[in-house]
Amino acid sequence: MNVPTSGKSDLYRLLPSLDEVLQEMAEVVRAEGHAAVADAVRSVLARLRTEISSGRLDSKAVEVAVQGIPQAVERELRQSLQPSLRSVINATGVILHTNLGRAPLGGAVLQRIREIAAGYSNLEFDIEHGERGKRDSHIDKLFAKLFAQQLGEAANGLSTVVVNNNAAAVLLALNTLGEGGEAVVSRGELVEIGGSFRIPDIMAKAGAALREVGTTNRTRVSDYERAIGEKTRLLLRVHRSNFAMVGFTEQPALTELVALGRKHKLPVLEDLGSGALFDLRSIGVSGEPGVTDSLRAGVDIVTYSGDKLLGGPQAGILSGKKELIARIRQNPLFRVLRVDKLTYAGLEATLLAYIRNDSSAVPALRMMHLPADALRQRAAEVQKSLASASSLKIEIVVGESVIGGGAAPQATLPTWLLALDSQRLSAEALAGCLRATEPTPIIARVEEGRVLLDLRTVFPEQDSLIVQALSAIDSL
Ligand SMILES: *Cc1c(COP(=O)(O)O)cnc(C)c1O
Repeated sequence: MNVPTSGKSDLYRLLPSLDEVLQEMAEVVRAEGHAAVADAVRSVLARLRTEISSGRLDSKAVEVAVQGIPQAVERELRQSLQPSLRSVINATGVILHTNLGRAPLGGAVLQRIREIAAGYSNLEFDIEHGERGKRDSHIDKLFAKLFAQQLGEAANGLSTVVVNNNAAAVLLALNTLGEGGEAVVSRGELVEIGGSFRIPDIMAKAGAALREVGTTNRTRVSDYERAIGEKTRLLLRVHRSNFAMVGFTEQPALTELVALGRKHKLPVLEDLGSGALFDLRSIGVSGEPGVTDSLRAGVDIVTYSGDKLLGGPQAGILSGKKELIARIRQNPLFRVLRVDKLTYAGLEATLLAYIRNDSSAVPALRMMHLPADALRQRAAEVQKSLASASSLKIEIVVGESVIGGGAAPQATLPTWLLALDSQRLSAEALAGCLRATEPTPIIARVEEGRVLLDLRTVFPEQDSLIVQALSAIDSL
């Protein structure tokens, strides 16, 4: 239908004014506040005007729409008051998914955050002496305990501080150790991590000049040694978090780099990225160095994330030689990059789980430890619950979960996937329907024209939500 322009002005006249709608909705205005309701009314009326101007509505249709204005306003209000940050179900099988918020936190950790955040705490207060205390003292003790468990005597000269994230930790360490001088780094380690973290850019911001050595694929310890001069302040090692180099490659062992540093009295800084505090061989992943491997090798400072393999809240952690950590603490940037009580509380509770050797308290670790058989069983339950589906074909296929978060790019865990085929929807459209699931969107993988769900990253109590969503999609 196409309403002639002359008829449209009559149609506009059928629309109520803002005040008329607000009067009619007085009760809602009292409950939700004048400003929010007025905004919603304005959007609804603007939408109707656009529809009239497009010529899609006749007078009958406008009358019906006007009747429905209060409901439309309430819908608009509900949508505009919905938080932008929402929970989702991660069915991708990527355990530390940066886009989905990395490590989920466990019940005991959340309980600690709740207790500390809900009231006052001794964040910077020495209860015994009634004096001002230091916020970083809390986690330093726990790291010391954990390192003593793993390193024995060698843990004595170490301490740890925390900043906002690992990018901040690298910036802070480079600035403290390298400002005004040079940091020697291999051309094979000038990496970019997602979210525009590029080592050369961070170095420039830290005021440390980049002294590149070696080649993309091969760097020897002699390359580092030749580059050492008057201006050299440190040797930098960066973990190749999100890629692997294979073939004709060479990189000096950490211990060789440490020996070179000692010889020239230069600190070795290692950006570990993921930084596991447990032995990944326990989940069948080899070749991924842990934090204590680096400290044992004699690295002076290691930096790593709190929310990658460690499985805690977002944080950047700097562990290393006491004297150097003391210098880092003195840097005004440390104050700029400091973390709040929520992070300290969450990190402390996570570290306590490590000290108690309780990996079940850290959801990311729990997911890594799930045996493939258990996942196959859960997938079979989901499949069985959807046996009567008419348009969805569901198979269980072998696959791989990914640790993610810059941990061992090739580190995968065997899993079983639910592979979905719809007779009516393309894989993309089916994945879109899953994302549109209310109240909790489901995020799936699409591979080779099929939607794949990996239950490793789905909490068991969410399995039934997946069944519900799929049967709703099946009967669309
Ligand atoms: C992940 C990563 C970073 C950045 O850490 P954030 O905690 O995301 O700031 C830096 N370096 C390496 C090697 C990484 O893997």
